[in-house]
Amino acid sequence: MKVLVTGGTGYIGSHTCVELLNNNFDVAIIDNLSNSSIEVISRIYKITGKKPIFYNTDICNLNELNCIFDKEKFDAVIHFAALKSISESVSEPLKYYTNNVFGTVNVCEAIKRNGVKNIVLSSSAAVYGINSGKAIKENAALLPHNPYGRTKLIQEQIITDFANTNKIGYVILRYFNPIGAHKSGLIGENPLGEPSNLMPYISQVASGRLKKLNVFGNDYNTHDGTGVRDYIHVMDLALGHINALKKLLDIPEYKLICNIGSGHGYSVLDMIKSFESVTGIKINFGYAKRRAGDIDICLADTELAQKELGWKTSYNINDMCADEWNWQKLNPKGFLS
Ligand code: NAD
Ligand code: UDP
Repeated sequence: MKVLVTGGTGYIGSHTCVELLNNNFDVAIIDNLSNSSIEVISRIYKITGKKPIFYNTDICNLNELNCIFDKEKFDAVIHFAALKSISESVSEPLKYYTNNVFGTVNVCEAIKRNGVKNIVLSSSAAVYGINSGKAIKENAALLPHNPYGRTKLIQEQIITDFANTNKIGYVILRYFNPIGAHKSGLIGENPLGEPSNLMPYISQVASGRLKKLNVFGNDYNTHDGTGVRDYIHVMDLALGHINALKKLLDIPEYKLICNIGSGHGYSVLDMIKSFESVTGIKINFGYAKRRAGDIDICLADTELAQKELGWKTSYNINDMCADEWNWQKLNPKGFLS
C-alpha cells in the first residue's frame, strides 16, 4: 500500500511517516519545506531504516501534483500540508486561504483525476471555538474564531462535499494540542523563530534559548486561573492516523469526523510543574495579560475515536514533557544543530 503524505516533513507529518513505515506502508512525501527541513528525511531513515520518497513541491501547483500522482499511484492520501499560525492568519488571511483552501482543492483534484479512494485530513479543535468548559463532542457548534480555524473548517467542508459525490472514503481528525517528540529525539517540533505554542516555549526557556515564559492570564475560570488544554503526545497522534488509514482500507467509502485528544485537561501551571519535575529544571515565568482570542478550557470528548478507530492515548503528561525536553536538549537549534 502506497500512501502520499502532504506536509510529511513537518512536525506531525514526520512522526506519522515513522509509524507508516513501521507499519510497512510505502510512503511518499510532498512538502515545499516552507516550515520544515529536508534533514527530516535522513532522520526518518535513521529511526526506521527506510527512506520515504520525497518531492519538494507546493500543493498549490496542480500540474506538479498531477505528475506525481501519475507516477506513484497512491492508495491513500494523508493531507497535513497547511500553514498553522493563528496570529499570522489574522495578519495575512489571504496567505492562509490560498495555501490551506486552494491547496486542499488541488489535492482533491489530483485525487479525483487519479482515482484515489481514501483521504485522511488534519483538522483542529480550532473549528469549534466554543468555551463551555465541558469536553467537546464532534456535533458541537462549529464557530472558528480566527482565519486559521476557518480555513480548517473550509478544508473539512471541501473534503466531505468532494468525497460524497466521488465515492471516496475520508477520516477527518480534529487534533487538540499535540506536543512531545519521538523517543529517539531525532525528530520533533521545529518552530522557526519564537514559538507561539506553550510547550516549545517552555522547553526553549529550559534550554536557555529564551529568557522567560509569559503565562497569558491567571484569571481564567479554571482550577488555578491559567488556561486549560487537552495535550496529546505526537506519537499517540501518529498512531491515530494509522488506525484511520486501516479503517479506510478495510471499509470502502468509510466516513468519519472525530476528535483526537486525551480527554484530560492541564493548565499552564500544571504543564510547568510537570516539566520541572521531569527535567529538574526550573522554568522562569511571569504572568502577563490574556492573549487575544484565548479561551478558558478546551477539552476533547474522545468516545467516538475509541469506538470507531479503537484508538486512545497511551502516553501521560510526564512522558510528553520528557520527550519534548529530550528533543530540545539534543537539538537546541532545531534541525540546524
Ligand atoms: P508543520 O508546519 O510542522 O507541518 C506542515 C508542513 O506542511 C510543513 O512541513 C510545511 O512545509 C508544509 N506545507 C505547508 N504549506 C505547504 C504547501 N502549500 N505545499 C507543500 N507543503 C506545505 O505543522 P504541523 O504541526 O505538523 O501541522 C500539520 C497539520 O496539522 C496542519 O494541517 C495543521 O493545521 C494541523 N494541526 C496542527 C496542530 C498543532 O498544534 N501542531 C493542531 C491541530 C491541527
Ligand atoms: N500560553 C502561555 N504562554 C505562551 C504560550 C501559550 O501562557 O507563551 C498558554 C495559552 O494562553 C493557552 C495554553 O498556554 O492557555 C496553550 O497555548 P497554545 O498556544 O500552546 O495552544 P492553543 O491555545 O492553541 O490551544
